[in-house]
Amino acid sequence: MAEQKPPKKPRGTARLIDNSCIACGARCQSACPVDAVEMNEKGEPIIDFGKCIGCAKCVKACPVTALEMFFTLEEKQVLAELKKLQEQAGAPPVAVEISDEEAQLRQKLAAYQGVWVFVEQTGGEAAKVSWELLWAGGLLARDLNVELCAVVVGDQVGHLCDEAFAYGAQKVYLVDAPVFKHYRTASYLEAVSYLVGKYQPEIILMGATGLGRDLAGAVATRLQTGLTADCTGLAIDEKRNLLQTRPAFGGNIMATIVCDHYRPQMSTVRPHVMSMPEHMPGATGEIVRVDLPLREEELLIRVLQVISDKQGEQIDIAGAEFIISGGRGMMGKENFAMLQELANEVGGVVGASRSAVDAGWMPADRQVGQTGKTVRPKVYIACGISGAIQHLVGMQDSDLIIAINRDKDAPIFQVATYGLVGDLFQIIPAITRRVRELKQAKGQ
Ligand SMILES: Cc1cc2nc3c(=O)[nH]c(=O)nc-3n(C[C@H](O)[C@H](O)[C@H](O)COP(=O)(O)OP(=O)(O)OC[C@H]3O[C@@H](n4cnc5c(N)ncnc54)[C@H](O)[C@@H]3O)c2cc1C
Repeated sequence: MAEQKPPKKPRGTARLIDNSCIACGARCQSACPVDAVEMNEKGEPIIDFGKCIGCAKCVKACPVTALEMFFTLEEKQVLAELKKLQEQAGAPPVAVEISDEEAQLRQKLAAYQGVWVFVEQTGGEAAKVSWELLWAGGLLARDLNVELCAVVVGDQVGHLCDEAFAYGAQKVYLVDAPVFKHYRTASYLEAVSYLVGKYQPEIILMGATGLGRDLAGAVATRLQTGLTADCTGLAIDEKRNLLQTRPAFGGNIMATIVCDHYRPQMSTVRPHVMSMPEHMPGATGEIVRVDLPLREEELLIRVLQVISDKQGEQIDIAGAEFIISGGRGMMGKENFAMLQELANEVGGVVGASRSAVDAGWMPADRQVGQTGKTVRPKVYIACGISGAIQHLVGMQDSDLIIAINRDKDAPIFQVATYGLVGDLFQIIPAITRRVRELKQAKGQ
């Protein structure tokens, strides 16, 4: 009787996990050998299931595990059948020899477990980037099958534990004492290093804010471990290492950095780079209260007074929903008044490219891009901005991008939803006039 052939192993098809894509720049599309991946206007992949051959190359290329292999019920049954056949055949385990050095390293690294997010707060109010990091950390914790933990340090900050649970943390390490009322590098360094020494996390994420950059650098130096600043993508490799992707060489390439010999692996991520997680009020978890024997007298720096640098109304372009940015094409500081006029009509704020900031036409806190702010508004209008990669990384995740440029080949048009080729000095006043007419017609 002819021997029955085992069924063919199904390969499945790639699928996008909802709300996971960070529009990293079409790495999945480049990885696909059969052109089965198209990108939509948001920079998210659309997979042609008819063409997909299930090679999983796009899944491996994704820096944030936003793609997965999907198997139908029938395919899952075949996979289970094959597994059973393999077990019955008693396939011998493959012995892999590793050196003593490698064995020691593995043992050292395995002592560290869990993903931590440092919750940055000022006066008891958390920085939004901390919750965005809980979203990113949640994906990493899921892939590693470990706990997602938040670290809250401050004075009378217990309420932030509930917020951390609501944004997805399963456990919170809480250090709550008057000595931590104001941020000082020395005191917070003591707190975080103490916690790491005691509980040994494998990954720590912090916001790439002034505070986060300062603290992360100090902690990494104290713990003698690696730190990657300004990451734009985070993922886990098959050896459980953190793949930390960030722009390098002036933003011309994306580098993926691995810290494979030391723990914890530390990364900072700028605000608005990661998505906000769903808010689930009432979610609970474990709170681990830690008392540190640190006294005010041991610190060299005293905070005598806190002076806010906010003079009048402070504009935060990072949180704005409508941004009108000007570049070198604005030709002078005085012409930004034209952008402000349009911004006033639509309830927006004015941003700028680095060239405009370097020229002294706009203050540095309005700069969008790699060395400025990362923004994700509903509408971004780029006026007289060429679209250098360092500018694009700061705004390409905007929901709708309108570019105005007289050069039809300007790179900004590659990310624009709508492109207007022409002289901005004619186009912008015309848009402002039209907006006013429409508002008048509606009686606003
Ligand atoms: C390490 C590093 C970090 C950087 N970080 C940033 C950053 O954070 N943000 C940033 O923006 N840049 C950054 N840059 C600079 C970046 O490389 C570009 O030099 C800069 O973005 C260019 O600014 P721009 O588009 O305003 O000027 P240009 O490149 O000079 O473009 C001006 C555009 O205006 C158009 N134009 C001129 N006149 C008109 C008109 N009348 N009507 C319509 N269009 C007109 C032109 O066609 C042109 O496309 C960085 C560079 C480096 C090396």
